[in-house]
This record gives sequence, structure tokens and C-alpha cells, in this order.
Amino acid sequence: MLEKTLVVVKPDGVQRSLAGKIIQRFEDAGLKIVGMKMVWIGKEFAKKHYTEDIEKRHGEKVRGMLVGYITRGPVVAIVLEGIEAVEAVRKITGSTYPSAAAPGTIRGDFAHMTKEHAITNDQDVQNLLHASGSKEEAKAEIALWFSEKELHSYKTVHEAHVFH
Ligand code: GDP
Ligand code: MG
Repeated sequence: MLEKTLVVVKPDGVQRSLAGKIIQRFEDAGLKIVGMKMVWIGKEFAKKHYTEDIEKRHGEKVRGMLVGYITRGPVVAIVLEGIEAVEAVRKITGSTYPSAAAPGTIRGDFAHMTKEHAITNDQDVQNLLHASGSKEEAKAEIALWFSEKELHSYKTVHEAHVFH
């Protein structure tokens, strides 16, 4: 089924000049960019993105650290469209903790931080990008980050050769 999903190149990805390489991975897989912008979000917005669900899963402290991390610099927000796009984008992104992310994934190729190191040293798990974790998350996150007018409809060549 055709789906849309949200990717956010986090401040470490932007500051390491990896935005282009990250976007390339998704384009190479035939995923279509239907929305994209650079924004420097504030703490209030960050709390809407990292909702109470994060607190339930990782605790209050991690949520606070995440809000600090994602507001540390500008980010590049992208809406991608494709077949089962949520799962496809998560697969290309790789596991949350870069040490566990497989080679060939973005997090596995461009980072190596372990969960243990982050916790022991009170550091962020800087893993370059956010990618919606489920269809429900994707829907809510796209509505938070993009207006209808900022999402575009057009044809790519992949629609003739990769999917249609
Ligand atoms: P994701 O969907 O793969 O990004 O992972 P989650 O939704 O579970 O967590 C959101 C983000 O929280 C991750 O991308 C990490 O940047 C961060 N994170 C996860 N676990 C920890 C942790 O134990 N400590 C810290 N500081 N950050 C964490
Ligand atoms: Mg997540």
C-alpha cells in the first residue's frame, strides 16, 4: 500500500554535512520526496514531536535529553512516499542504537555509538535521523511538521519502472 512517512535529519546529521547522503539513500530506493524543508524547532514543538510515548518507553530523562538534542541546531524534515514506506524507511535507517544498526543502513554506516556508552557518560544517542516508527506515528508526525500546501503531487520515473 502507498504510504507517506516522516524523516528528520537531526542536528548531528546536518552539522556533519550528511543530509545529502542520507536523502540519497532514500531516493536510491525509489522513495519519492513529497515535502522537504530546513527548520530550527523550539522546545515546545520538540515536545509535540517527542510525545509522552517516549517518556513511557524511555523515561522522563531521555525525553528531556531528546528535546535538547533535536533543538540544538537546524534539521531537515522530509516526507517520503512509497509502497509500505514506513517500514521501508525504517529498514534503510537501521536500529535506534548505531552499534546495533547493520552495515548498509544509515545509522550503521555513519555512526557507532552504543546504548551503554550513552547511559554511562550521560550522552545523547546521536543517530543522525528520525524516521516514523509506525503508520500511526507517521500520520501524526506529518500533520505536525507539514501543512497540506507543503506536500506535493507529481510523477517520478520510478512510477514507470519501480512501482506504479
Ligand atoms: P527511533 O525510533 O529508532 O529513533 O528510537 P525511539 O523512538 O525508541 O527513540 C527516539 C530517540 O531517542 C532515538 O533515536 C535516540 O536518539 C534517543 N534515545 C533512545 N534511547 C536513548 C537512551 O537510552 N538515552 C538517550 N540519551 N537517548 C536515547
Ligand atoms: Mg521512534
